Amino acid sequence: MTTSERGPAIAIRERYHEVVSEQWPVVVRPQPGELLSSWAHRLGFANGIAPRSFGRVLGFSTGMWSASLDMNFQTDAINILTTHTGIPLSRLFAMSLKGSPLKRLLLPLRDDGRRLSSTWLQFCPQCLAEDAQPHFRRQWRLATRISCPHHRCGLRDRCPSCRSRIAVFSQLELVPQHFCAACGFDLRRASTSFVSPAIRSLDTCIHDICRLEAITGSLLTNSLVRRLLAIPDFYGQYPTVSLVSLSTLARIRCFERLAMHPKEWLIDDDDAVVALWRRSILSADGHASLIERLATGLEYRIQRHAPKAHRERTADLRGLLEAYRRVKQNPHRRKRDTAAVEV
Ligand SMILES: [Zn+2]
Ligand SMILES: [Zn+2]
Repeated sequence: MTTSERGPAIAIRERYHEVVSEQWPVVVRPQPGELLSSWAHRLGFANGIAPRSFGRVLGFSTGMWSASLDMNFQTDAINILTTHTGIPLSRLFAMSLKGSPLKRLLLPLRDDGRRLSSTWLQFCPQCLAEDAQPHFRRQWRLATRISCPHHRCGLRDRCPSCRSRIAVFSQLELVPQHFCAACGFDLRRASTSFVSPAIRSLDTCIHDICRLEAITGSLLTNSLVRRLLAIPDFYGQYPTVSLVSLSTLARIRCFERLAMHPKEWLIDDDDAVVALWRRSILSADGHASLIERLATGLEYRIQRHAPKAHRERTADLRGLLEAYRRVKQNPHRRKRDTAAVEV
């Protein structure tokens, strides 16, 4: 405040944004494996903004804004998020599905309301119930993922109370994202569905094979995705229907039938080395922990360069599988061999 001949005058010396941090009051840390939209919903909630309003803060109008953010990583919205949270753009990119080699296996962003049709996102009630901060996982967007390996149950894709899909993006109320946007049901209380060990094993093996081949880039050129999409037609259960268009329950039925038959449809490949290792992964019931280590190391190196880098082929599959074979034969050499396949 200054004083002049005409009396006291008030002068604003600094603009508000110059004296306070640009960060929003509450910054929510991403959880391991979390989907970008899930984190965005939690961020909005923590700062007192309901999802639909938070979409407007990020420059979206209405609709499936957060699901679209996962897929398209819209620059303006991402700049707002990274500026106001301090979380690096590369970290946000890693949570998105932009440029995913598994894109063709993602559940589509549509809902025709039919009982046997897919919805865009699945969930495991027990995972949500055990989460300190309930969140949705990136892998729950995949049509090939039908069960939870941790809780040994089937995933769900609808609210058990009102049968609506997950629609947090349209939520008008300030409630956590694990409450159904249509009826308010707490999704953590949803019952779990039984899936047999054979179905879970097939699910895990397909996931491991896809993840490995996605990282090496071979998934973009071989016929595996096409075969996976045709699963509903294998035994005439849902002729001419793509796997991504079916509900979780219908896909579990397909896997049930598949699990009872030989897996040559999954193993065969023009490259004999690829076929050999697919067989190895199947016979070992997934080898998830080892592939997890290999894949995580490779993904980390890829993500460090995202989003600028766009790589169609990120590692040599033969080299990767050779290291995998050596680690299997002699686990004590694991550290050196894993390092050898880094790209
Ligand atoms: Zn679970
Ligand atoms: Zn509901």
